[in-house]
Amino acid sequence: MHSLEHTLGAELNQCRLDHLYRSRNSHTGPQTPELKVNGQVLLAFCSNDYLGLANHPQLISAAQKACADYGLGSGASHLVVGHTDLHHELEETLAKVTQRPRALLFSSGYMANIGVMNSLLDRQDAVYQDRLNHASLLDGGLLSAAKFQRYRHKDTLDLQRQLSKTQARRHLVATDAVFSMDGDSAPLKSLSKLCNEQQAWLMIDDAHGFGVLGPNGGGSALAQGLTTFECPIYMATLGKALGSYGAFVAGSDELIESLIQFSRNYIYTTAVPPAIAAASLAAVKLLMDEAWRQQHLDHLIDVFKKQAKDLALPLMPSDTAIQPLMVGSSAVALQLSHALKEMGLLVTAIRPPTVPKNTARLRITLSAAHTESHLQQLLQALAQVQQQGLLASVDD
Ligand SMILES: *Cc1c(COP(=O)(O)O)cnc(C)c1O
Repeated sequence: MHSLEHTLGAELNQCRLDHLYRSRNSHTGPQTPELKVNGQVLLAFCSNDYLGLANHPQLISAAQKACADYGLGSGASHLVVGHTDLHHELEETLAKVTQRPRALLFSSGYMANIGVMNSLLDRQDAVYQDRLNHASLLDGGLLSAAKFQRYRHKDTLDLQRQLSKTQARRHLVATDAVFSMDGDSAPLKSLSKLCNEQQAWLMIDDAHGFGVLGPNGGGSALAQGLTTFECPIYMATLGKALGSYGAFVAGSDELIESLIQFSRNYIYTTAVPPAIAAASLAAVKLLMDEAWRQQHLDHLIDVFKKQAKDLALPLMPSDTAIQPLMVGSSAVALQLSHALKEMGLLVTAIRPPTVPKNTARLRITLSAAHTESHLQQLLQALAQVQQQGLLASVDD
């Protein structure tokens, strides 16, 4: 047998040869569109801080005050002594803004997705997932031991075929509400109708919709008019549009109590620090009080789509802050990302296995923290790489 280093070294080399090697940029200072990376200031279009709250003074002062009053660490899991009145108030506020009976905090979105499925499903059950779901939903399904099936992207007919054949005890349909690498939205109304007819439970992951879509940023379920009955399991994160950290599940009293009793990822992990809960609470209050960020973001999305269309850039069918440009080849996507960096812009190349083979892309994300002039800089740079032949032109 080869040594660990020899075996892993060969695997890493192959990854480099395939243009799939990933490396990190470390930056200094807060998460803002102007990021200091290795001494150079880059204009970033890849953060999930869609409302520009990650550096908001009210979040920072809420966290500082909570640190002074509660100390830093939470000290234990929620069921032991980690659950403070700040966590509790945050849960109640999240239930209110999502218009669900109750909400339960998880330490991260990844944990929440795995935690929901491991508490609700076992080997007698079946889980159905959109092919393009986020890795954490897919992993949650695989780890739950339920029969795992994927349906074609947003294809309710394909899902219906699968649901009509099943012998399982419980059926859970899970989908990203806004697809993280594509930016398009799931057809929640038709999915919920189908689930209702087939007696399946609908779970949506609204990591990219909560905070930006629906009344008061209450998310995709509200934006598409789904009640708790129509969408019994609503999950969203606090580390993206909310500019903080953590995640939650919202739904009926029975769902939340079951998660508290049976979800391993809820029970066996330390609660997030009280200061993080305080910052999240400040962020939710900003959502409820100030709508201008969502409006400015919507305006930037409109401007970007119109001008990108005029330039014949390879836009994808998205109306959200996620506006990827399809490239195809991983090597070209990397080349593009490097070329943009030379021009002072930071845009990540997303490659397999995050996306299917031959669908590497530039994942551009817009934020309320961007100005129109930031957007113009991006569009000019994209026009330039297009002229250099790196980025395709598409005909209408
Ligand atoms: C980011 C993301 C998650 C994971 O959330 P974290 O809080 O970062 O662990 C889950 N689902 C989707 C769709 C995401 O984009």
